[in-house]
Amino acid sequence: MRDQALAYASEHQQLHIEQLMELLCIPSVSTLPEHKPAVRRAAEWVRNYLQNIGMSRVELIETTGHPAVYAEWLGADPSAPTVLIYGHYDVQPTDPDNEWRTSPFSPTVIGDDLYARGAADDKGPFFALLAAVACYLQSAGRIPVNIKVLAEGEEEVTSTNLPLIVAERATQLACDTILIADHPMATPEVGILMYGVRGNLYTELEVRTLPHDLHSGTFGGVAPNAFNVICQIIATLTDQHGKIAVPGFYDRVRELSTDERALINGGLANEAVVLALTGASALIGEAEYSVAERMSVRPTLDVHGIRGGFIGAGSKTVIPAVAVAKISMRTVPDQDSHDLFALLDAHIQSVTPPSAHAMLRALDSSQPTIINYQHLAVQLAEEAYRLTFGATPLYMRGGGSLPILAEFQQQLRQNGHPVPIVMIGLGLPDDNIHAPNEKLHLPIFYRGITMIIRYFALLGTELAASERLHPD
Ligand SMILES: [Zn+2]
Repeated sequence: MRDQALAYASEHQQLHIEQLMELLCIPSVSTLPEHKPAVRRAAEWVRNYLQNIGMSRVELIETTGHPAVYAEWLGADPSAPTVLIYGHYDVQPTDPDNEWRTSPFSPTVIGDDLYARGAADDKGPFFALLAAVACYLQSAGRIPVNIKVLAEGEEEVTSTNLPLIVAERATQLACDTILIADHPMATPEVGILMYGVRGNLYTELEVRTLPHDLHSGTFGGVAPNAFNVICQIIATLTDQHGKIAVPGFYDRVRELSTDERALINGGLANEAVVLALTGASALIGEAEYSVAERMSVRPTLDVHGIRGGFIGAGSKTVIPAVAVAKISMRTVPDQDSHDLFALLDAHIQSVTPPSAHAMLRALDSSQPTIINYQHLAVQLAEEAYRLTFGATPLYMRGGGSLPILAEFQQQLRQNGHPVPIVMIGLGLPDDNIHAPNEKLHLPIFYRGITMIIRYFALLGTELAASERLHPD
């Protein structure tokens, strides 16, 4: 079955590119209201594709925003595991348009690269997963694993409706592993297996000292200044190295095992590389943790902006009554956003002088996620990478946030454990995602389809066998 699918993949590379180009022509920019019909067209395109390749129960799921798509194929052997494929067909806006060398929704092949908005994030990698399913169904009429597909059109606008869909359909979505391809590889040969992401807690701090602004000549020296106070408060949040000074902030941070430290530090991030990437003259952070660790498995706190007072040209001698700062924290397992908010609020109240009133609001939050990288479903993805690309992939925990992972882990459990999420990279770091001239490197796209075909075969034999041996 696997060899038939592999042969089909190598004979139909051109077909797969043409199909992907159809999807890339649809301007499914989810954040722009005038593109709402296009996001629906992309959903319909995915639905029709899944129908045409022989998936069943194919369905457009209506939401209050953009529609999602579900499909399944459950014809594998009784012992075979079920894989839930997740992806998104919405894209980021294309501006600044004058910096594109090709038209963003007229996909164009130049050399080995396919240029279009969404080529790498995420239509190309997501379509590679679907094409691997198609290769099995078109050549052998069956797949070594059961497949479910859940795709959405709101990933670039914080997946507003997906948590509701996952919660409502937890039974329908039940699976043994979740497969996502939505991040880059390290190089065209070295893949990346992402096994966790940081969470996020985004807050707004408002400090008020007076009912209204005052003149600093008349009242300076006695009237409390909201800007002076907010700066003093912010200065207490971190030490000079960037270590967070809020009492209790690190209490629930899970320490790394020796093995995991070695794994994370085996990646590409080091001081010289990151100095070059950032253009900074020196890096900050906790001296006892490496650059790679500080960028992915340690929590952070950053101030994004401060608003209020006078900032126009010239000088105005005002004592501002109100100052507002945006402050966010990247969080790591096992920190909890709600607990951290309470700790931060208590700390801010304790350092706010009696002359001021501080109010902290949570604007947004998501929980951090970690996946057991030793789970066989992840290890088999490593093997599929190695068999296809000839190199052992890197293991990484992402520094950013992907809120839907925590949702999957909460809702889709098996024997009380969260279902493992396997995140493979099928792009390149210079694919210009979210930027002009987004591209997909076609040799990776073709090999990606091959890799997924191999991965399904490995899951069908080895994961099935291990679960028979260890029913728990
Ligand atoms: Zn994406």
